[in-house]
Amino acid sequence: MDINLTGFPVAEAQQKKEESVKLLVLGSGPAGLSAALYAARAELAPVLLTGVEIGGQAALTFSIENYPGFPEGVGGSELGELFQKQAEKFGARVEFETASAVDLSQHPFKVSAYGTDFLADSLVIATGARSNHLEIPGEKELTGHGVSYCATCDGYFFKEKRVVVVGGGDSALEEGLFLTRYASSVTIVHRRDALRAGAILQKRAQDNPKVKFVWNSIVTEIVGDKLVEGVRLKNVVSGEESLLPTDGIFIFIGHTPNTDLFKGQLEMDERGYIKTDMLMQTSIPGVYAAGEASDPNFRQVVTSAGMGAAAAMQAIKYLEKVESHS
Ligand code: NAP
Repeated sequence: MDINLTGFPVAEAQQKKEESVKLLVLGSGPAGLSAALYAARAELAPVLLTGVEIGGQAALTFSIENYPGFPEGVGGSELGELFQKQAEKFGARVEFETASAVDLSQHPFKVSAYGTDFLADSLVIATGARSNHLEIPGEKELTGHGVSYCATCDGYFFKEKRVVVVGGGDSALEEGLFLTRYASSVTIVHRRDALRAGAILQKRAQDNPKVKFVWNSIVTEIVGDKLVEGVRLKNVVSGEESLLPTDGIFIFIGHTPNTDLFKGQLEMDERGYIKTDMLMQTSIPGVYAAGEASDPNFRQVVTSAGMGAAAAMQAIKYLEKVESHS
């Protein structure tokens, strides 16, 4: 008798359902939820699979100050909840599911999730991106023990402690500034002598007495027994090496799109971003991509939301065309 991972005989294990949908959205960040809103208002009864990170990366942001309509700023998870509420109000169904396999060679497209195989007439991919790692000794071993990729999630544990932030972009500065609420000092280690971050954040960081900068330097090792105790630095200009004592290290060195599921099925660039045209159309008709899965440039809540809306509008047109030919 076949036994599956649940320990029950296969025949007695819960049978996987199959469900046909007009439009399936993958991802619950601003792009996915906006696509679901637009598709719901077009009465397509879209189904959205949230993925593991509900609300996407935006939900990890303490305060979003550049999403129009919120002059005082809005919490990232709060904004995500509002997006979801609005999409559901018009009939979108949000499922706490993650796609594990996708077959785009057949139509309807097949998307397998834990409990259900979805057969979708059209698909909006809004699977977002994940934080890059430094890939240095000590990083993996000490993740969760002083190594972090999210200040909003972990900053609280560094009250009156010293932290290092790696990176010179908007994320490094924004998250570094957030950490000054808790930490006694925030040392930003950047591999060049000029920041990539926007002018406002640069000024705020430079004006903050808790923030220090270490220029032209990379972290080569994170040291510590059970907790982070320090980072080994190398000055890339002088070659000089040093040990900087710290209680934590926050790494913000860019992102990688979550597009592994579609490799070999959709055209992508060399970094794995799904290629789309101006109309969010991928290399397969009926499959659209929006937000950070396809956007290496803007990566803003407002641009991702706009792309999600555009993708859904195109999917609506595609479905009308398919229906008129059937
Ligand atoms: P990013 O702009 O790609 O910056 C990544 C930073 O990490 C760069 O300074 C880069 O150095 C550095 N870096 C990359 N690989 C590294 C490595 N292996 N070792 C050491 N340093 C490394 O990423 P981001 O800051 O996450 O921002 C992503 C996008 O989101 C951007 O478009 C940004 O504008 C946007 N964003 C906006 C806001 C906001 O508007 N408030 C907030 C967060 C993010 P180099 O500079 O030398 O390349």
